[in-house]
Amino acid sequence: MMVDRPCALVTGASRGIGRACALELSREGFKVAVNFNKDEAGALETVELILKEGGEARMYRADVSSHEEAKGLVTLTEEELGPVDVLVANAGITRDALLVRMTEEEWDGVVSTNLKGVYNVTKWAVKSMMRRRKGRVIAISSVVALTGNAGQANYCAAKAGIIGFVRALAREVARYGITANVVAPGFISTDMTKKLPEQARERLSGAIPLGRIGTPEDVAYAVRFLASDRAAYITGQVLPVDGGMSLGALT
Ligand code: NAD
Repeated sequence: MMVDRPCALVTGASRGIGRACALELSREGFKVAVNFNKDEAGALETVELILKEGGEARMYRADVSSHEEAKGLVTLTEEELGPVDVLVANAGITRDALLVRMTEEEWDGVVSTNLKGVYNVTKWAVKSMMRRRKGRVIAISSVVALTGNAGQANYCAAKAGIIGFVRALAREVARYGITANVVAPGFISTDMTKKLPEQARERLSGAIPLGRIGTPEDVAYAVRFLASDRAAYITGQVLPVDGGMSLGALT
């Protein structure tokens, strides 16, 4: 008899950390809804990687910064793959600039994708989790939400906002048996960090006690754990996956 697998929805899963999470969740036994906004080819590649390993996956286009599109994403996923048991709110962008030069567009773009996007998707996913008294929300923040980073006031604000959002959510949904946690990656090798100037890459990697830049898999293993039954008693927490970066300097 075919066992029906639970379903995980990963936003921004066309590449990088989102793709690694999608693959790890598939290995944990989930069918995966692979969300993308513009990168259809990347999303297709993620789906194909999952299918090749014997998993189940489908791709769904939606801009998470749109409340309506986020609602449509959750509705369609639930119609086609089944109720969302695990949501990984991963989609995110950077528009770096020092505050005095930061345009309103750069501020709004980052806040609406990175923070409002998490609200949008989580709201619709949690509604049905509450009905079923079951579910996991895992939001991807960043170590800079804890430490700050010059040139990223918009990004740090949005990522710190995610932490407050998840802590409030964890309290709201605990009585339904739903957990909500944050993973805060440090400096991870993806397309997002590829565009950093060499000098910044060197400065950042020098600040990592474990002495290496992280991989998308390093983050995905933590997400997989938080999505698993073994993490049932953990909620409202922030888990840095940063090689010790957030420990700060000794001097
Ligand atoms: P990435 O740029 O490689 O991937 C981001 C993904 O989000 C892409 O698939 C992109 O298409 C998608 N996306 C962007 N805007 C979207 C939208 N409006 N709707 C739907 N999807 C959208 O970046 P990454 O490094 O894999 O980052 C993934 C997450 O991890 C982001 O939230 C990022 O802020 C966070 N993060 C990354 C690092 C790092 O060092 N790479 C560190 C800390 C946190």
